[in-house]
Formats: sequence, C-alpha cells, structure tokens
Amino acid sequence: MPEYDYIIIGAGASGLLLAAAIGEDNFFSEKNILLIEKSQKNTNDRTWCFWEDSSVNNHPYVSKIWDKIKFKTNDFELTETITPFGYKKVEAIDFYTYQINKLKQYSNIKVIGDEVLDVIHSPENEQVKCKTSSYTTKYVFDSRFNYEELFEQSKYPVLQQHFIGWFIKTKEPYFDENIATFMDFSISQNGNTRFMYVLPTSKNEALVEYTLFSDKLLEKEAYENTIKTYLKEHLKVKNYTVEAIEQGNIPMTCYKFWKYNTEHYIKIGIAGGWAKSSTGYTFYKSYKKVNQLKEFLKTNQSLLNFEKKTKYWYYDLLLLDVLSKKNKIGSTVFGAIFKNCPPQMILRFLDEDSSLWEDFQIIWACPKIPFMKALLKRLFL
Ligand SMILES: Cc1cc2nc3c(=O)[nH]c(=O)nc-3n(C[C@H](O)[C@H](O)[C@H](O)COP(=O)(O)OP(=O)(O)OC[C@H]3O[C@@H](n4cnc5c(N)ncnc54)[C@H](O)[C@@H]3O)c2cc1C
Repeated sequence: MPEYDYIIIGAGASGLLLAAAIGEDNFFSEKNILLIEKSQKNTNDRTWCFWEDSSVNNHPYVSKIWDKIKFKTNDFELTETITPFGYKKVEAIDFYTYQINKLKQYSNIKVIGDEVLDVIHSPENEQVKCKTSSYTTKYVFDSRFNYEELFEQSKYPVLQQHFIGWFIKTKEPYFDENIATFMDFSISQNGNTRFMYVLPTSKNEALVEYTLFSDKLLEKEAYENTIKTYLKEHLKVKNYTVEAIEQGNIPMTCYKFWKYNTEHYIKIGIAGGWAKSSTGYTFYKSYKKVNQLKEFLKTNQSLLNFEKKTKYWYYDLLLLDVLSKKNKIGSTVFGAIFKNCPPQMILRFLDEDSSLWEDFQIIWACPKIPFMKALLKRLFL
C-alpha cells in the first residue's frame, strides 16, 4: 500500500490552502504529501469574498477589491471606507487553477482524482480507503463535511447562512463599482434575519445575492422572487440578463467539530468548524488556520492539541442562542453594531482579531435584554 507522510482529503478552499502553505515551506520538503479530490475542480462553483489589510498580502487570484462598503436597514444607511482593509473577491475557478498549477511545482506533493470512502485509524498509521485504491499515512487532514451530524445534536443551535445569488448584466449603467453592499436589511424580514448582498464589478455587472441566517432553507422560487423584487424596487434595474447563478448553505454553529480529531487526524475547513459561526465567512479564516496548522505541525505535537476555544467561540455562541430563539432580531443586532461602531472595528471583531476594549464596545452596542437572557440560560441551565 503506498505510504505518505500527509494525506489531505479534498482540494477545495481549505485543502488547497493547506497544500499550498506546506508546499512553499522548505521545512516540509522531505515530506511526501498526497492530495485526494473526487471532482474535477474545473467549474466556477463559488465566489469568495473576505476582508484583509490590503498592505499585507497580494493574492494573485483576487480579481476585485472594494475599499467602501454599504450597510443599510429601514432606519439608516451607511457607506464607509474600510481602509486599511480591502473587501476582496476571488472567483473559485481562478483559485483552483492557480493553486493546482502551483502544486505541480512541488515534487513532494501529488494530486490525484479519487473518492475517499473511509479513514481507518490505528496506532501504527492512518489508512485512507478510496474507490480505486488505498493509502497509509502518518497524518490525515480531512475536509469532507457532513451536515447530518449537526442536526443529530441539540446542545448547540444550528443556523445556516443560505443564499442564492444572480450574476446580472444590465444594458444601462446602474451600479457604483467602488461600493460593495455588505448587508442591506431593508427588505422584508418575515420573522428571520434576511438581507441582500450586492457586489458590483462594473457599472452594469453585479452579483446580487439574497441571504438568510436561519434554520430552514427556502424554496428556490422564494430566493429568486426576492432578488427580482429587489432589482426592480430597490435598485430600479430594468433590463438585465442573468449570466450565472450561485447558491450555498454554510453552517453557523458552535458545535465542537474538533471532537473527531485524533493524534494523527484532523478535520479542516467547514468540516473542522472553520466557518465563522456568526457570519458563515470561512475563506479567510481557513487561510489563517492553515498557516497556524502549518506552524503547529513543525512542533510534532498531537493534532488533538491544535484547536483551542477562544473568547470568540463564546461570543458567537451567545449570538446564535439569540438568533435561534428570536430569528427576526438579526437586523436589529447588526444594525446596532454598525450604527455605533466604526466598520474597521467590526471587521477586526468578526475576524477574531479585536482587543478586549473593542469587544466591549461591540457587545455594548447590542440589544441588552436578549443577550442577557441567553447568557443567563447558558450559565444556569
Ligand atoms: C456558493 C458559495 C459561496 C461562498 N462564499 C463565501 C464567501 O464569499 N466568503 C467566505 O468566507 N466563505 C464563502 N463560502 C463558504 C466557504 O468559504 C466555502 O464553502 C469553502 O469552499 C469551504 O471550504 P472547505 O475546504 O471547507 O470545503 P470545499 O471548498 O467544499 O472543499 C471540500 C472538497 O472536498 C472534496 N470532497 C468531498 N468529499 C470527498 C471525498 N469523499 N473524497 C475526495 N474529495 C472529497 C469536495 O469535492 C471539495 O472539493 C461560500 C460557499 C459557497 C457554497
């Protein structure tokens, strides 16, 4: 049976980021690494956005950067410059193509197409069983994700960030391509947390996405009808064509994904709980996590010691407790935060990079009663 030092399962965001981080670090040049992916990765199946200090990194796969974001509710509207951050967009196909080509430069990394069926742990090694072959390895990094396990437990609330987005093209110029609409809550909430997300890439092209933070998905028509109404009534867009569609549902939960980790096996990406539970943003968190994991691997410690609960886990848990009990107050919570705190502070907070004083200001801006109730319930029940 072929033997490797590391096997990475899945060449999606986290698998490719991890392989790239390990590949470009000479420390790992003697390690034999296998990356196993079941699909072709030749379609543009998603658009990733994230924010980052623009002076720090220059990712070759980023295709657009906005330095202004808009936030809107029925009561107020803000358009703010977010420098030093940039709100960055990555087309998945550019990312897959770039990373897979880059991996070809590293003689110690092999990428194969196969479907992993099972991983068997034993004291001697990890066995990865695929459809066509099996491999042994010292360490496994697994990005296979299964929603079912989340719904089988009730200890941690599970919401989903679910959405459909239309990439539209208009005849007339309608958009300001310098402003990304981060959250527009000025649409009907229908008892949930619902907002529109608009990413204009030119005056007549934009991704218009209808997004919810709630427990149940909608029928396809419900997303589509809301996008149509929003284009007509809010953006006053008349003639447009839908060039492409994206859809997704990302888990929002504090469920302890890391309970499956062992000394030599770790879940990564969404499967490892790397989706930010209060927002669903995963891409940049995965970027930061793989770099931490890469450094951690150099210490030869058990993978059981990698994941650590931080203060943000508790903050997110409270927000999810509040939103799962009273799903309609999302616009009030996010509205209060955006009204009272500078956007850079909010972005640092959501990025899990804020000071205690910044945390206090953001938490203080939130409606007090539902959060106090949620806190007391967690403490005493
Ligand atoms: C449409 C969409 C838009 C999104 N937009 C954003 C965004 O703007 N910003 C953000 O931060 N996050 C966003 N996300 C959330 C998150 O960043 C992505 O879902 C991201 O791709 C998650 O990375 P991952 O590595 O966990 O999973 P994936 O990228 O899904 O990678 C998992 C990989 O494992 C492979 N695989 C699965 N099972 C097997 C198996 N048995 N054998 C072999 N291979 C297997 C899959 O084919 C896949 O390639 C979005 C998600 C979607 C769906």
